[in-house]
Amino acid sequence: MPPVEEGPAKIAVIGAGISGLSAAIHARDLGADVHLFEASSRVGGWIRTSRTDSWTLEWGPNSILPSSQCLIDLARRVGLESQWLSADRCAKKRFIWKAGALRALPTSPLTIPFSRVLSPAGWCRFLMEPWIGRGGIEEESVSTFFRRRFGDEAARVLADVMVSGVSGGRAEFLEMDSFQPKLPQWEKQYGSVISGLLRQRSDQTAPFQGTATLTEGLEQLPRALAAELGDRCHLDSQIVALEPRNHRWRLHQRGAYGSDTVDVDGVILAIPAAAAATLLEPLSSRAGQILQSIPYASLTVVQIGYDARNCRIRPQGFGFLVPSSEPLGILGAIWSSSLFPSRCPAGESLATVFLGGSRQPHGVEESDEVLQDLAIGALRKVQGIALDPHMVQLGRAPRAIPQPQRGHRRKVAALRREMGLLPGIALAGSHLTGISLESCARSGRAAAHQVYSELNGQERSQ
Ligand SMILES: Cc1cc2nc3c(=O)[nH]c(=O)nc-3n(C[C@H](O)[C@H](O)[C@H](O)COP(=O)(O)OP(=O)(O)OC[C@H]3O[C@@H](n4cnc5c(N)ncnc54)[C@H](O)[C@@H]3O)c2cc1C
Repeated sequence: MPPVEEGPAKIAVIGAGISGLSAAIHARDLGADVHLFEASSRVGGWIRTSRTDSWTLEWGPNSILPSSQCLIDLARRVGLESQWLSADRCAKKRFIWKAGALRALPTSPLTIPFSRVLSPAGWCRFLMEPWIGRGGIEEESVSTFFRRRFGDEAARVLADVMVSGVSGGRAEFLEMDSFQPKLPQWEKQYGSVISGLLRQRSDQTAPFQGTATLTEGLEQLPRALAAELGDRCHLDSQIVALEPRNHRWRLHQRGAYGSDTVDVDGVILAIPAAAAATLLEPLSSRAGQILQSIPYASLTVVQIGYDARNCRIRPQGFGFLVPSSEPLGILGAIWSSSLFPSRCPAGESLATVFLGGSRQPHGVEESDEVLQDLAIGALRKVQGIALDPHMVQLGRAPRAIPQPQRGHRRKVAALRREMGLLPGIALAGSHLTGISLESCARSGRAAAHQVYSELNGQERSQ
């Protein structure tokens, strides 16, 4: 595609989740004429906060970490700097449900001897990790990596809950290098994951400590980013086809006024893999095939409001995760009001329970009533039979979380090679380099730089 000769490059970003919003804001800051197209009638994608009757409910992500520099910069860029709300200090405490009781994860190396998450022998093997030589196989799974470095018990308990807690997936199928690339990098660089972890400095520059949200919930960020784009953010505008036209791209849009077309110089596809595959298949069947082959997991979220004073165990901490060996029927729960007391009315507590994922297909297939009962029953087992819900709401997140299975990195490399043959188009989103909001925002920023520099006659950067 020849460089744009007159006026700013016109770039269309498709999808107004955090990846697309980040791409749109960064492309605009570079000087492009940006238009953002969103199929639904709201921005944010999986970031969704509902606020009613003094309850603030997060249906997708709940909080972010201080290392989320791209998100923090985006929030600053749209005037939300003072809106961060740090989680209560108790958020450091996290639990695992094991053998019928909540077991606290260690908060520092000194507390390891007191943690019953692993047996004494399991912790001894875990602590031998710095003396285990470098190794590993290509495309190693998360559980194989953990077994090799930390022992069998750590793989069965810690790897299992880490994967299901973050992605609803299964540790034996996900690829370590794609799921959590820092850990294998520390192994390569320092010879040990524990050494790498101990060298990390806490980020003193973040505008909050520990995990944080925004005062009106996380959806405040996408709403502010969309407001910054003003009338360049087009809702109810699904893009149904992409057509090459005179060295430009013609987008076919199903919008409020039927079918419409828009001509642009560059395109960023910040939509789920299957949706991107549909648009790309006529242009590159190989790219379409690769995108279609990325599996996704579905989740169910049940919000439960109750009076914790009646409970045997009162929520104090981030929440708990459930290893697959435990028959509780849920993936885990976040004690949302313990993190952010302003999320519910005075005297109430709020738990956000997660079910489903690739580990528990029944957790998405059953009816709302069955899943609500399952979530309440599990919470009663954990916190006491007297738990009496005053408010129960359920949300479904179908095909929400990409599963970077073994071979994912190889797939993404092949996809990027195919995309290199389509000038002026880039991909962004959770299926490329990670599902965290921070990874998504970074992928949007990278796509904006890539398309903008390509349109201005510079080299493709990825
Ligand atoms: C229940 C749940 C809990 C989570 N918890 C966390 C957490 O605690 N921390 C964390 O970091 N991450 C978490 N995540 C993951 C994170 O929320 C997602 O990875 C991230 O929001 C994905 O953003 P995205 O912009 O890539 O995609 P999406 O949010 O899927 O946005 C894509 C957008 O594209 C639109 N679209 C699709 N097709 C078209 C089309 N043809 N034309 C126009 N628009 C289209 C869609 O309507 C959607 O709005 C969670 C996710 C879920 C579901």
